[in-house]
Amino acid sequence: MIEPYGGRLVAREVSDAERARRDAELGDLLTVTPPIDQLYDAEKIGIGAYSPLEGFMDSATLGSVTRTGRLPNGLPWSIPIHFPVPLEAAGTEAGAARPGDDVGLLDSGGRLIAILHLQETFPIDPGALARATYGTDDPKHPNVADLLAGGTTAWAGKIDLVHRLLPPWDRAEPTPAETRTEFARRGWQRVAGYQCRNPPHTAHEYIQRLTLEREDVDGLLIHPVVGRLKKGDYRPEVILEAYDALVRNYYPADRVMMTPLTITMRYGGPKAALFLAIVRRNYGCAVYIVGRDQAGVGKYYDPYACHRIFDAFDIGVQPARYDESFFCRRCGWMASGKTCAHPVSDRAETSQSRVRDALASGAELPPEILRPEVAAILRRPNVMLT
Ligand SMILES: [Zn+2]
Repeated sequence: MIEPYGGRLVAREVSDAERARRDAELGDLLTVTPPIDQLYDAEKIGIGAYSPLEGFMDSATLGSVTRTGRLPNGLPWSIPIHFPVPLEAAGTEAGAARPGDDVGLLDSGGRLIAILHLQETFPIDPGALARATYGTDDPKHPNVADLLAGGTTAWAGKIDLVHRLLPPWDRAEPTPAETRTEFARRGWQRVAGYQCRNPPHTAHEYIQRLTLEREDVDGLLIHPVVGRLKKGDYRPEVILEAYDALVRNYYPADRVMMTPLTITMRYGGPKAALFLAIVRRNYGCAVYIVGRDQAGVGKYYDPYACHRIFDAFDIGVQPARYDESFFCRRCGWMASGKTCAHPVSDRAETSQSRVRDALASGAELPPEILRPEVAAILRRPNVMLT
């Protein structure tokens, strides 16, 4: 199986004894309650999903990533993983923490999720960070809006994970070590990773099937990113249930596995695609599926820049790159511009917005666009955050 990124899986979960001690002494610890985005990141650092990162980036690392797209050791890395000091911490004792201090990161319920061993406090320029990462400082870009609304001071330091986050659904989220163990148990050597953030329609299924047909792929990890919601997003449990329906009803059980990944989605187009592929390498994926406009939003990115970035940066993962696919009524089949000669007017439009509109209006969606088992789930009330 492919090695973790950087050669070693980071494991910074504390022992049971240390967990008990940290919980017992919580009252003596400086603590802050950061936005869920930073807690997701802290947890992912702790379980090794962001290997080789062991903590939140310091100023030298952040500068290297934004200027060169690489960590200081030369490994490609495209997305800043930094920790803006929560605005609410201003004026508090924790807000004045200094290098050498330990700061506890609490969830909204007051549970101690992680310890940040503070190594550096440094100023950040959210606008400059937005331009360097997302290519824009337009506040209409969701991640830019988050950056601009956050603090202008960052903390850097290693993370110790004390407790896993409690997801609001009843489903475990395996660590990279656990997915690797499961792949090995299934006899999968070379696994393809599939990134998604919406319920599956047939265009998604098509590129998953094309990947499963490859002779160099033993299995497929469908790894939906389910994190903080914004208006109009499908609820995580709906996405997971919809994928369950697809996997259970259509895929061979020994070829496909689906588990959630709780991180905040970075809509950074090519840079986000590269980052998401690095993360999947840590979970054990040697192949990574890249469709059209992966991790895009609005019109900020060329839809195929997410393909080209894998030529510019070698992360040791084989990209499985696919053009836009669709159901062609003349071909009577799923196709892409590479396999179908017919005009756009012959294509069944499978865009997410088309699917949403049809479901909202109660219109029937043909099985060429949506599997009936998936449609039945998406037709229920309150499947999206409104
Ligand atoms: Zn055709």
